[in-house]
Amino acid sequence: MGEMEKEAVIEVMERGELSGFFGSPGPHWLGGEKVKQFERKWANNYGYKHAISVNSWTTGLMAAVGAMCIGPGDEVIVSPYTMSASATAILFYGGIPVFADIDPDTFNITASTIEPLITTRTKAIMVVHIFGQTAEMVDIMNLARKYKLKVIEDGAQSPGVKYMGKPICGFGDIGGFSLNYHKHIHTGEGGMLVTNDDQVALRCQLIRNHGENLVEVQPIEDLTNMLGSNYRMTELQAAIGIVQLDRLDSYVAHRQRLATHFGKKLVGIPGLTPAKVANGAEHAYYLYPVKYDASVTGISRKSFVEAVNAELPTVKVWEQTGLIEGYIKPLYLATLYQKKIAIGRAGFPWSINSGIEYNYSKGICPVVERMFDQELIYTPLIREPLKECDIDDLVVAIKKVLANSAELVNRIDGSGQ
Ligand SMILES: *Cc1c(COP(=O)(O)O)cnc(C)c1O
Repeated sequence: MGEMEKEAVIEVMERGELSGFFGSPGPHWLGGEKVKQFERKWANNYGYKHAISVNSWTTGLMAAVGAMCIGPGDEVIVSPYTMSASATAILFYGGIPVFADIDPDTFNITASTIEPLITTRTKAIMVVHIFGQTAEMVDIMNLARKYKLKVIEDGAQSPGVKYMGKPICGFGDIGGFSLNYHKHIHTGEGGMLVTNDDQVALRCQLIRNHGENLVEVQPIEDLTNMLGSNYRMTELQAAIGIVQLDRLDSYVAHRQRLATHFGKKLVGIPGLTPAKVANGAEHAYYLYPVKYDASVTGISRKSFVEAVNAELPTVKVWEQTGLIEGYIKPLYLATLYQKKIAIGRAGFPWSINSGIEYNYSKGICPVVERMFDQELIYTPLIREPLKECDIDDLVVAIKKVLANSAELVNRIDGSGQ
């Protein structure tokens, strides 16, 4: 955040209209001046037909699922290695998350992990471009066409990047980005839906702003899920977003430079595998993943991470920590899925497909579990305002810890006893 954002906020404050939305028919149902400007700018800059701002990406995902006409008992295939909202958005409409395993190099779900899970009840695929790497969208779209499935893209961690030269979140029917405080660019809280489909855009706009009051005047053929909510962005947030959007490309480029620098330094360090970028993919490096092999280093992942972090100067950006292990626990292991209690007390929505037993046991996605339990380490330090020299500090710490592994094993892991 800089002077430009401050000025943008003050301009809105002086005008006094902090939200331009009305939840009823009329010129204001699509929001105020700044909201519309922010949406047009995002759509134009990144080549989408429509952009629809929302008050978080969690609600954006809910609007996306609603706009795809997902209803009770419909299955949606999703990665379990993501922020919980990618899957809970499905549950909010009574849809049932079916979890696909990931590729061990990109950490994304792929056409080959998705296809075996498709049933007659499958309605959509939710693709998450995790850590910043674009998923293999050409294969996934071919699969979706073959089975007539909708595709939702969660690009929260990957704004501003392309797959095979085409902006992500423009492959599927609908997609979008998070603008929460931790993401590449932010408006405090917020999100941006993007789509190239006019009807899908309209459905998202209706869900965002009390669709039930608007369907009488908005021509819409299918009333499914058109009961609305309030997912509206304020003028203050949009004014900040307009300025922030101009920073996005340089932030991504900076992260890519740091990542290349870090990756080169990791090459040849036994037991550590730097991030890999698939053919045709791009990486926005929301987080930088490293695979760790304790059988090579001789130090447990936990001890390694703690020891490296102890070597680092205190970092004053967002996360205080240099290395973190595991990422998010596979979503299906959360209590919600283990107990199958989501909406009401009677096991809805799973109960609706009687006779079908949804399996959320440990073991269903072995690659995700291996990454979470054993192999994955990530760093959030590949970001502005850090520079190459800061990344060098991290590399020095890593090398120092590995060079003194014998001492560490004796003192912490206790395996010398
Ligand atoms: C951050 C994030 C979300 C949720 O976005 P909010 O704006 O915080 O609601 C969803 N999915 C992924 C992959 C995320 O990283």
